[in-house]
Amino acid sequence: MRETESVQEARRAMDICNACRYCEGFCAVFPAMELRREFAAADLSYLANLCHNCRGCYYACQYAPPHEFGINLPATFARVRAETYEEYAWPKPLAGLFRRNGTIVSLAAALGMALALILTAAIQDPAVLYSPQHGPGAFYRIIPWWLMVTLAGGSFLFAVLALAMGFRNFWRDTGGRPDELTRGRPLALALHDILTLRNLGGGGGGCNDTGEHFSTLRRRFHHAMFYGFLLCFAATVTATFYDHFLGRVAPYPFLSLPVLLGTVGGIGMVAGCGGLIWLKVVQDQAPVARRLLGADYALLVLLLLTAATGLLLLALRGTGAMGVLLALHLGIVLSLFLVVPYSKMVHGVYRSAALLRHALERNPKPADHPTDRSAGSTA
Ligand code: SF4
Ligand code: SF4
Repeated sequence: MRETESVQEARRAMDICNACRYCEGFCAVFPAMELRREFAAADLSYLANLCHNCRGCYYACQYAPPHEFGINLPATFARVRAETYEEYAWPKPLAGLFRRNGTIVSLAAALGMALALILTAAIQDPAVLYSPQHGPGAFYRIIPWWLMVTLAGGSFLFAVLALAMGFRNFWRDTGGRPDELTRGRPLALALHDILTLRNLGGGGGGCNDTGEHFSTLRRRFHHAMFYGFLLCFAATVTATFYDHFLGRVAPYPFLSLPVLLGTVGGIGMVAGCGGLIWLKVVQDQAPVARRLLGADYALLVLLLLTAATGLLLLALRGTGAMGVLLALHLGIVLSLFLVVPYSKMVHGVYRSAALLRHALERNPKPADHPTDRSAGSTA
C-alpha cells in the first residue's frame, strides 16, 4: 500500500484514537487498532476495510469537527478504502478505472444496454423480436443460447478471476499467509460477521444511518440487497441445472424453483438498493467522503436496474415486449459483471478479507500471538 495523504490522515487519527480508546466497543476496528502501536500503510489499509462506515464513532467523538483535531474516521477510512481498491485491482492497467468510477459504471451500463439491443435487432428477424414467444426455448428464439452463455458466462468468469486476484493482493499486502485461509474457527467467525453484518451494529443500537439517532435501516437494506443478489444467483444456477441435467428448457412456470428464487431475490434487490439510495440522499453529509458518492450511486442504480429489468421480463415474458426486455436485461447483466471488479462492489471482497484477518488476530495460533503487530504486519 502506498503512502498517500489519506493514509497519513488515517495514521494521525489512529494515533489519537489509540490514546483515547473511547469507542473500543463500537466495532472491530478499535480492538484491531489496539493490537498496534504504530500504523504502517498496510495496517491502515486493513483497518480501513474493517470499518463498515456505521458512523457511530463520528457522533460519539469529542474530537470530531469543529474540534481542532478534526477526527472523522468514517470519511477518512472511506478515502483510504477507495485507494486500496485501486491499489489491489487486477489487472493493474485497469486500476485507473476506479478514479472515475461513477462515470465508468454509468457509461458501461449505457453501452452494454445499447450494444445488446443493437446486436439483438441485427441478428433477429423483427417478426420474431416483437412478437410473443411461448413454450420451451422461447428466450433462445430471441437470443441464441450460445451467445447468451458466451456473454454472461464469459463476463462472470472474468469478474470472479479479477476479484480473486484482488483478494490475493490485499491478503499478501496486509501480511496474510496462504495457510491462514484454511483455519476453521477464524473462518467460521469471519463468516458469521460477514453474513450478519455485525459491525453495522455501531455502539449497540445500530448505525447512525441518517444522523445522530441510531437505526438498523442500513443493515436491513444491505441484507435485502445482499441476500436478494444471492437468491438471484441461486436462480441462475438452478436454471442451468434444469437445462443441462434435467433437460427442462427455460422459460419455467411461475411456481418453479428458478422463478421463485429469482422473484424473491429480485424484489429483495430492488427494495435493498432503493432503500440504500434513499439513505444516501437523506443522510447527514458531514461524515461522508463526498467525492466517492458518485461511485456509490452508480453501482446501486446498476444493481437496481439489473433486478428491475429481470422482474419486468418475468412479468411481460408472454407479450411482444419480451424480446426487447430480454436484450435489455442481458446487456445490464453483462455491464454489471464487467464493472464489478472496478466498482464499489469490491468492498465486499476486501471487507470479508479484513474480517477474516481480524478473526485470525482474535484467535492466534500460540506461535503467532500478536503481542505487538505494529508495522510488522506489512509485507
Ligand atoms: S473516534 Fe474520537 S472518541 Fe472515538 S476513539 Fe477515536 S478519538 Fe476517541
Ligand atoms: S464508522 Fe463505525 S465501523 Fe467505522 S470505525 Fe467508526 S465505529 Fe467503526
